[in-house]
Amino acid sequence: MAGPILARAIAKLEEAARYVAPDPEVLERLKHPEAVLQVWIPVRMDDGAQQIFSGFRVRHTNVRGPAKGGIRFHPDVDLDEIEALAVWMTFKCAVVGIPFGGAKGGVIVNPKELSRLELERLSRGYIEKIADFIGPEIDVPAPDVYTNERVMGWMMDEYSIIRRRRTPAVITGKPIELGGSVGRDDATGRGAFLCVQELQRLHHWNPATMTVAVQGFGNAGQAIAKLLHDGGYRVVAVSDSQGGIHRPEGFDVPSLVQYKNDTRHLEAVYCEGTVCEAVDADRITNEELLELDVDLLIPAALEGVITGENAERVRARTVVEVANGPTTPDSDAVLESHGITVVPDILANAGGVTVSYFEWVQNRTGDYWSLEEVHRRLAEKMVDAFTAVREVATELDVSLRTDAYVHGLRRLCAAISAGGTSSYFRQPER
Ligand code: NAD
Repeated sequence: MAGPILARAIAKLEEAARYVAPDPEVLERLKHPEAVLQVWIPVRMDDGAQQIFSGFRVRHTNVRGPAKGGIRFHPDVDLDEIEALAVWMTFKCAVVGIPFGGAKGGVIVNPKELSRLELERLSRGYIEKIADFIGPEIDVPAPDVYTNERVMGWMMDEYSIIRRRRTPAVITGKPIELGGSVGRDDATGRGAFLCVQELQRLHHWNPATMTVAVQGFGNAGQAIAKLLHDGGYRVVAVSDSQGGIHRPEGFDVPSLVQYKNDTRHLEAVYCEGTVCEAVDADRITNEELLELDVDLLIPAALEGVITGENAERVRARTVVEVANGPTTPDSDAVLESHGITVVPDILANAGGVTVSYFEWVQNRTGDYWSLEEVHRRLAEKMVDAFTAVREVATELDVSLRTDAYVHGLRRLCAAISAGGTSSYFRQPER
């Protein structure tokens, strides 16, 4: 039986199906993953003891191409979450029109409690356990919460050792020196920023008058905060797992990024050279950040943070879902009734997987692109996807989230139906 997060993903699929009316067989196919793997990874800890970690890899579908999805290292990872994230990946790849299906992986671990060597052993151990389940033509992992490019590099290296041939296309989000793509590091934030720019163009926003709050100051949160800051928006609040800071005048985001990455602490600072000076800012909780009176609210941390309980108190005019699944379905209805536009995760954060696709293409062809080329191709994909979702919006009077699911489901239906469904096979032969 589906857990609560997977049930949410399936409910959304069923809702979109009401507008697409797919062949029932197509819907049935998409409700089930293609394969689920659970592994136990013994790791030699620095004190000599063995510790066993549990992990998963789920392949939802590879009907449109190899399955694609990140690997999450987090103490709260469970199979329900990973299965749901794999479904979302299927839709995300379909929405941006890249030839991948959906997958996801995770290990139950708090990586902050591991030494660097323990983290490397765990990363390599995980790949050793899932090596027969992944591959450039089968399932291509990438970074997600609390995994990064160094971890991807170790994982690619381990897979290459097992296969006895260098295989960079097995995983994306690698360091550039190990076959990564330029422009992958900030691709998720940049993709979301491109969506904001489309909204800016449609609604004639003046960035100088627009305020922004960003929850989560990791890879994705930092990138979009920085791009919005550079674009003239006023970023007035940011947070990490320890809590947030708020400054109505706005922050100098590059300084925050530098300080956070140098010290792992989030403080309001201005940096010049290597010297950072503290400036006034209020400490706020992550819950308070979500309820600030801002134009743009950007959840960029974990799922399920805007719920039926706090949605009534959300005062932002637009929510851009950089995190996967930050808004629960009951809160969706509340946000909609308050006239709050939600740019859904399967569109807003698709920039990351899009540049991952570019990385996979470059690894397979051996032809590496310039940053300008990556940015140009990313903008083309994101603007096309945004426009296609808006076109569905002119056809149906539903939320942007449902529009995005309808757009993705149409592509998935076309791919599954191309192989023939019962309506084709039952036709009398002529
Ligand atoms: P990350 O590990 O780099 O950063 C996560 C950030 O969230 C950190 O700043 C952390 O302190 C903060 N955080 C953790 N727990 C929190 C909590 N309870 N409250 C507030 N903040 C908390 O991860 P990331 O890669 O930036 O991913 C963030 C989100 O974006 C995830 O939902 C992920 O699935 C999604 N996403 C990331 C990418 C990508 O390319 N990195 C692509 C698509 C989607």
